[in-house]
Amino acid sequence: MVENKQEALDKVAQMVKDCRRCPLYKAANKSVPGQGNPEAQVFFIGEAPGFNEDQKGIPFCGRAGKLLDQLLELAGLSRGEVFIANMLRHRPPNNRDPEEEEIAACRPFLDRQIEVIDPKIIVTLGRFSMEKFLPGSMISQVHGQPRFADYGDKEYIIYPMYHPAASLRNGKIKALEEEDFIGLGKFLLKLNQAQGKKSQTTKEIKAGEKEQMRLI
Ligand code: URA
Repeated sequence: MVENKQEALDKVAQMVKDCRRCPLYKAANKSVPGQGNPEAQVFFIGEAPGFNEDQKGIPFCGRAGKLLDQLLELAGLSRGEVFIANMLRHRPPNNRDPEEEEIAACRPFLDRQIEVIDPKIIVTLGRFSMEKFLPGSMISQVHGQPRFADYGDKEYIIYPMYHPAASLRNGKIKALEEEDFIGLGKFLLKLNQAQGKKSQTTKEIKAGEKEQMRLI
């Protein structure tokens, strides 16, 4: 039976709302399960909800979110066609860094959303989500460079990016991030062109993706 993606994502959102797997829910106003298109080709993963997200229950709805919207435009994308979530689904006090146990507690929600959406590209925003797929990498060295990563029993294309909040603090990072989003748009276009070729087997599509990565 084909899974109804929206229903599956709604179930995850309900589980996030009811989540007591770590203490963060106690001080939070709203849970922030993630938002976007169930058919998204690109899945963005940030860090954790901040003040505004905690008020509204929507990821990236404050200043960093406004910048993210502008960056998405540079990639030829809009919020309506991507999916956006965070490593954590409840706000850490005073926006402190996520702790290991909190990331582990939240992991099943993210993993299930990735499984349901099955995106072509996972964009990591900042070091916490990058570490999930590309452990030990330095963001200053790998940002804007897509690569394959094994995760679970699948191989995903990971596109590591700076966190938009870092761009808000540093104009040089913002310029790099803008270039990276333009690169993301071009990469997605080429990927879709490569996959649009008729009668490709999954193996050929994977080979096309690998070739695409080599050329970029
Ligand atoms: N920063 C994040 O990492 N996620 C949000 O949703 C907002 C700010």
